[in-house]
Parts: sequence; structure tokens; C-alpha cells
Amino acid sequence: MTNQSLFIHEDDYPTFPADAAVEHLRGALRFPTVSSLDPDAMPYEALCAMQAYLRESYPCLREKAHWETIGHSLLITVPGTDPTLRPGLFMAHQDVVPVVPGTEANWIHGPFSGDLSDGYIWGRGSMDIKEMLIGILESAEYLLSEGKTFARTLYLAFGEDEETCSRGARAIVQKLHAEGVELEFVLDEGAGEVMDAADYGAPGHLICTVGMYEKGYADMRLFVHSQGGHASNPFHGTSLGLLSQAIARIVDDPPKAHLSEAVRRTLTLLSDRITTEPMRTYVTDMARYEADILSYMQKRESLYHQIRTTVAPTMITPGSPAGNVMPQDMEAVINFRLSPPDTPESLLRHCRERVPEGVEADYVQSIGPSVPSDPDAYGFRMLTETLSHYFDRLLFIPSQNRGATDARWYEELCRCVMRFGPFLEEEEISAEGIHGTNERIFVRAYLQGIRVLIRMMETTSVAERDKKA
Ligand SMILES: [Zn+2]
Repeated sequence: MTNQSLFIHEDDYPTFPADAAVEHLRGALRFPTVSSLDPDAMPYEALCAMQAYLRESYPCLREKAHWETIGHSLLITVPGTDPTLRPGLFMAHQDVVPVVPGTEANWIHGPFSGDLSDGYIWGRGSMDIKEMLIGILESAEYLLSEGKTFARTLYLAFGEDEETCSRGARAIVQKLHAEGVELEFVLDEGAGEVMDAADYGAPGHLICTVGMYEKGYADMRLFVHSQGGHASNPFHGTSLGLLSQAIARIVDDPPKAHLSEAVRRTLTLLSDRITTEPMRTYVTDMARYEADILSYMQKRESLYHQIRTTVAPTMITPGSPAGNVMPQDMEAVINFRLSPPDTPESLLRHCRERVPEGVEADYVQSIGPSVPSDPDAYGFRMLTETLSHYFDRLLFIPSQNRGATDARWYEELCRCVMRFGPFLEEEEISAEGIHGTNERIFVRAYLQGIRVLIRMMETTSVAERDKKA
């Protein structure tokens, strides 16, 4: 990405036991906690064994915090002394995705080896997301071992099945909800895309995304009934023809683009740095130029998905067996990623109004966008201040998360649910990293991410008198 380091203040917390933190991550990676949709194939043995290992590894947390398992999810409460402060919650998940069958031999180091080599820790889960699981535990353990008192109660919450169905996260939320807990902030994995802000009109400035909500997800099925017949008499058209028309109408006329609060905030944050036209003019009066901003963003691959529900036709089946035979019943699937204010209901209405007669539209599955968190909230301010301390060349902007995580379930307990894994890499290895073969984390990135977590815990939660001067 750049030959100039992104990392500063790597000498903070000189007493932090970095070698032990590396060993603990290597140890956690050796438990094959591979998620499965089949409840009988869930890795319960590996989860239990890993939890025993965690208890073993963190004596201060074992002694001073309350550990409980909910199903196979883990909730650790580090009690605070000040009941007037709403608790904070740091989260990650314990499960990992499977190794793609047939690719085992392509791993330079075994996916469950936890090998340390060439400056990297190798293994499935090293970027998604055992580095955060262990990083959170290391941070809390370190602060306790230094004799710090927590004023704010912290929850450390680790689901068991984020990669499949999030039952664990929902159970934890249900429990906290029943206890009447309201959270000040939640920090989960996600976002963290670093890019040059040239598309915004601010070339030479690096920005990094913090996820403030998740886009929705929907697979919509379009269906056309037809008897088929000989292709020499297509008087009533063919099912394929009708289906193609339906797809084209939806693609050509998607739900309206929308300037979200996060995008407005991003433009405001960047406004001093925006030097190229037309954005330089647009940001001087966003209300007046709203339509121009939308049309500008719409034309850029890095920006268009932030302002709209995306439409991706993905499947069409079964077609005709021969060139001279009209197809019978056919169906297509369009995948949507929903942006606020669109909802599954409004989207379905929109599409049904546009498809030609004879085409039915329904969902295979759908979930709306999550509730956008408040970029003015205390948690977002503290996170971005902390991040700026460790990555001073980056400007952190509130954004969306394109993938789904456990975090959305916590929105009912909190208005500041942030998706951001602070383990930024200096080089782009994430393409082959997350969920890929040879997943690995750069040790420096791992340790820098832990410093972020320690500082975030310290500034938000440690008692005033115990904070570093
Ligand atoms: Zn994950």
C-alpha cells in the first residue's frame, strides 16, 4: 500500500508481555473451532477445550472477572466500581470457517498449526477473528495485572457460531436484555478498509472505514410459469424472455440512492482536505448539491455501494435443453444488499411494481439493514481518538459494513455499535487472508491492534486515578 509505516507509538505499554500474547494466539489457533450449520457437527469439544485454555492463560481475569458460558458462548464480566457508567462491551467470535476441502496441501503452514514464521502467525482464524478474541483478553488481563481498577464495567463477549447462524450472540443479548443492561458502546470485528480518498476529491489522504451499521441482505426469486413448446411459435413470448425483461427493469430502475448520515459525516470530516472539483464545490453546500453528490458517487466503484441498495442478478435456471425448444418454468435470483432507508418490504413492493405481468417475485431470504449507530456517540469519538493515536496518517470515517456479523444483535442494547478490527495490515494480504488459504497475521499488526484495545479500555473504562498521566 505504502512504503511509509502506518504504525506509530509502537513503544506504548513497554511492560506488556508481547511474547506471551503471541503464544496465546498461537495456542488458540490450534483448536479447530470450525463452525457448521449442522448442530451435530458443531465443534463443541474444540470450543470447550479452547475455553479451558483461555481460563488457564489469564489468571487475573480468572480471579477478578465473572466467567459464564451460555450454550458454548462465553461472557466475561469485568466489574466496574461506578454504577452510573453504562458498561462497554468488546466482542469477537470463537468459531472459524472451514478449510476449503482439497486446499489443505496449499497451506504453507497447517491451518491449525499456529506456526510463527516470517513475522506472521499462521492459521485459520488468525485474521477472522481469534486475533481479536485473544487481543481483547490480553488487554483486559494486562490492565488488571498492572493493578488498574475499572470504573466502567466491561463485558467481553464471544459467540460460538458467528460464521453460521449467530445463535450464541442472540443468547448473550437476550441474557443482558433480561438483566436490563444498556451499553455505552460495543466494539466488534469488521470494516477497516484503508484507501486513498482520491474518489472523494481528496487525493493523497488515506481514510479507513469504521462500520456503523450493516447493510441488509436479500435473495429475491423471480418466477415465470410456462408450458414451453416449439420455438417456431413464440407468439406469447418465452419464460426466459419475460424473466430477462423483469431482471432488466429492476437493474435499470433500482430503489433511489440516498445520502446517509455516515456519508454526510464523512464528507464533513474530509471537507478541509477535498481539493479537486467537482467535490470541492459540492461539499461547500451539501443540501444544495445533494443530487450532484449522489450522481458523482454513483459513478465510482469505491463509493456507489455506500449510497444505495445494490442489485446483483446471480442465478437463472433451468433454461431450455435445446436451441429450438422454448423453456418451461424458469426462475432467477437477484441478490440485494440493502441500504437504509430501504427495507425488505419496501424493496419487494418496488420490484413487484416493475416486473412485467406473469412474473412473480418473492424472497428466498431477507433481512433489512441494521440500525445506523450515532457518529456523535461517546464510543465512536473514543475509538477514533484511540485509532488516530496509533495510525496518525489515517482519517477514520463512519461507514457501513458490507458483511454481516454478530454485532447487529447488540443494537437493541446500544446506540453505538461499532464494527472495527484494529489489526490493520501494512500490506494487502487480506484478499487471500480472511476466509482464504494461508490466513495469517503480521505480528506487528497483531501487537499494534492490542495497543489500540488496551488504550480504548484504559481511556473509556479504567478509574481516573489509575489512568496513565
Ligand atoms: Zn468474523
